[in-house]
Amino acid sequence: MPEQLRLLIQAGHPLISIETIDEERALDTIHSAARKLNRPLFHWSMYTGLTAAPLYDPPDGKEAVHEQLLKPGKTQDMLLHLLKEKQPGVYVFKDFGPHCKEALIHRLLREILHLAEANRMTIVMIDSLPIPDEIRRLVVRYELGWPSVEELEEVLKQTFLNVRNRSFEEITLRLRKGDRDRIVQSLRGLSCREAARVIASAIYDDNQLDETDLPRIIDGKRQLLSSSGCLESIAADFSPDDIGGLSNLKNWLSQRRGGFAPESQQFGLEWPRGVLMLGVPGCGKSLCAKVVAADWGMPLLRLDPGVLYQKYIGESENQLRQALRQAEAMAPVILWVDEIEKAFASAQASSADGGLSKRMFGTLLSWMQDHRHPIFLVATANDISALPPELMRKGRFDEVFFVDLPQQEARRQILEIHLSRRKIDSAPFDLDQLAAQAEEFSGSELEQVVISAQFAAYHAKTSLSQEHLSQEISKTRPLATLSAETIARLRSWAEHRCIKAD
Ligand code: ATP
Repeated sequence: MPEQLRLLIQAGHPLISIETIDEERALDTIHSAARKLNRPLFHWSMYTGLTAAPLYDPPDGKEAVHEQLLKPGKTQDMLLHLLKEKQPGVYVFKDFGPHCKEALIHRLLREILHLAEANRMTIVMIDSLPIPDEIRRLVVRYELGWPSVEELEEVLKQTFLNVRNRSFEEITLRLRKGDRDRIVQSLRGLSCREAARVIASAIYDDNQLDETDLPRIIDGKRQLLSSSGCLESIAADFSPDDIGGLSNLKNWLSQRRGGFAPESQQFGLEWPRGVLMLGVPGCGKSLCAKVVAADWGMPLLRLDPGVLYQKYIGESENQLRQALRQAEAMAPVILWVDEIEKAFASAQASSADGGLSKRMFGTLLSWMQDHRHPIFLVATANDISALPPELMRKGRFDEVFFVDLPQQEARRQILEIHLSRRKIDSAPFDLDQLAAQAEEFSGSELEQVVISAQFAAYHAKTSLSQEHLSQEISKTRPLATLSAETIARLRSWAEHRCIKAD
């Protein structure tokens, strides 16, 4: 990928645009292209003004000192300076896009582009916001992409050497090839600098780099992802035995297990694309997403489009695209969109947000249709009335399941699962009787029954008994009785449209 930027500059493209939030990596890529082509490098931003980068990279760990050519000031003065000097080189403009809306700036830019090729001048714009239409036609876009496995291997090597050189204590390396490969794989989807930070903190933790750092690195990455955007890496250590009932759904998922393995491709199978789980709240939809990830041995990424609206006002669409690209870079992964109807709620109605959610939804739908990456999308939804019909069209999901309230046998299994999760032997209990008593209870309500009964037993200083559980069931008013109408509507809607999960 970085080679392509060098080729674009070499081919004489006068204006190249990189739309990214990973400015550091974009800068690294431009620097290395300029160095390879032996072109002088200049930087401009509203904050720094115009500066010239040193001709040679400083020694490791030292900051490059730039020569100030123009102090921060009017953008037009900088462009006039370029027009006058006609100095060959690569000019990096940060956040220049919005300036092009001004007629004078637009004109000056066009004048520069006229003479750029003859003078071996290239402007590379790095913008975190989409560039305006005014100049979209003038630029060639460069897709930065995410660091490749080879780049990440290099980052791992360099970071270890840097930490060792800087540390006053002895730093040791005990990494077999297989462990190193797993660490590198787990860094996919991070920028080089993010990866370096995660590796460095894993090394500093115990002054060594070995296979025990893998969980630390995964954890560091999880924290980074959750602090940096709308993708969150979720820990998933469940097995299919942790789900009570939902046998159809479990069978369907287990048949698709290994669907991304090379052997399944040789067999002529297509990659599974995804599943939509629609149903009553608290009946195990989210749990299923976690179980799939753990059972298939794939990382679980949760896409939270709600964050896109709240945190990235004005750049939501761009952020959604970035998130999808990031998921692609980390593939094979399970991508989980929880309560998809809430995320794109107004996509269906004539929205009050200027059509934003509609456009966002469109972006997601076309990505679902077009992407060619080993990504399994798990979407969950509770409210069908808010679901745009396009979502249900064939080809988007492999299957749509309806997750209803658990039946007698499933309720019995769920009680057993939650007792054994709390290390309580279920043999002395009459689970059939409890399950019958807990008619219309959801999975999460059954779990709550076990938790509350345990508290009651602890408070009474006795061990947990049938009576405790039975009393808790009597005290609980399940959601199903409170919102019976909504559930009935959901059931009748799902009747001919979805497969029953159980
Ligand atoms: P919501 O739509 O409200 O997010 P959901 O259908 O996704 O609900 P979960 O979040 O998966 O439901 O359920 C909450 C908790 O209830 C789970 O973490 C699990 O402990 C328990 N639970 C629900 N259903 C089941 C089940 N079928 N088997 C075992 N546990 C269950």
